[in-house]
Amino acid sequence: MTPVAYGVLDLAALRHNLTRVREYSGGVRVLAVIKANAYGHGLITVAKALEAADALAVARVHEAIELKKEGITQRIVVLEGFSSVEELNVLVENGFEAVVHNTEQLAWLEHCSQVRAITVWLKLDTGMNRLGFSACDFHQAYHHLVNCSVVKPAMVLMTHLANADLIDDMMTSQQINQFNTSVNGLSGEKSIANSAGILAWKDSYADWVRPGCMLFGVSPFLGKDSCAFNLKPVMGFYSRLIAVKSVQKGEAIGYGGQWRCERTTLMGVVGVGYGDGYPRHAPSGTPVLVNKTRVPLIGRVSMDMLTVDLADCPEAVVGDPVTLWGVESLLVEEIAKYANTIPYTLLCGITQRVQFINNGDSLC
Ligand SMILES: *Cc1c(COP(=O)(O)O)cnc(C)c1O
Repeated sequence: MTPVAYGVLDLAALRHNLTRVREYSGGVRVLAVIKANAYGHGLITVAKALEAADALAVARVHEAIELKKEGITQRIVVLEGFSSVEELNVLVENGFEAVVHNTEQLAWLEHCSQVRAITVWLKLDTGMNRLGFSACDFHQAYHHLVNCSVVKPAMVLMTHLANADLIDDMMTSQQINQFNTSVNGLSGEKSIANSAGILAWKDSYADWVRPGCMLFGVSPFLGKDSCAFNLKPVMGFYSRLIAVKSVQKGEAIGYGGQWRCERTTLMGVVGVGYGDGYPRHAPSGTPVLVNKTRVPLIGRVSMDMLTVDLADCPEAVVGDPVTLWGVESLLVEEIAKYANTIPYTLLCGITQRVQFINNGDSLC
């Protein structure tokens, strides 16, 4: 029985996108970023399909634990590091790697009584002003860690780009220069680039790149979608028509009655809503594919349903397939634009109710 709203994961596309990362960044190592349930695609399925990545990154400790529980044996980096002594102990005991970005963490490491050592990714703040040591404090932090018995000698030095998705923004070059100046003379591998860095800023490749959205076939650039980079969408989001009816000119549709039919038309009800992660703020006119034909969303999106105008698809019947996003003719980037958000939030926002199947598996 096919679920009314479901996702399809194209794992071949995921691997293709990883290959694209390597094509862009040459021989450098790849830390595949799969935080937030692998950007909504399913942490474990994605991790298993990315065995060719050199290491995996998540944001939080519990995500790393989940990976380990499921038998993932790759290196796992926790991007927020640890925010308590307890978390530090869990990281060390499990052999996870941690981003270190504040002085509290330095103190906890210094007083840590574990016998095992941990690999540290030491973070420099070059202008993002979120996590990381300032250029003034960075050297001191580095030398502090060099003398810390619980820290493995081989550290990775990293920073994060704030504006790399703005292709003409001067800030990215400034961040890269500041990073290179600050790490000059310190031993250790280096890492700067997120997806936007990989796609647009060659100087950011260093020793490790950290792709996230690009792996999932999503472009980080507004106005330049993933096809331009030969990336393939990994998540397809689908539903079907659960009702088809004619509505008369002047009738209002859905909550709030904001949308009124300008003419008598055929209307379809699709079995997907914001309770599945379709954006409630998608306005009338947002494209939806019914039987591969583009039709406009009309009226407000509800929790379990949304409504479409079937004037251009008059042969549609109950049960017909509906695509919300994730095919080349309807990318999540386009829906994000209509909904006045970014693709990341749409992908991460897919809810637990949506069942996922892998491309090639049959729907049972
Ligand atoms: C999320 C994240 C990335 C990946 O970012 P994308 O824009 O999705 O490629 C890389 N590095 C860090 C530190 C991150 O938090």
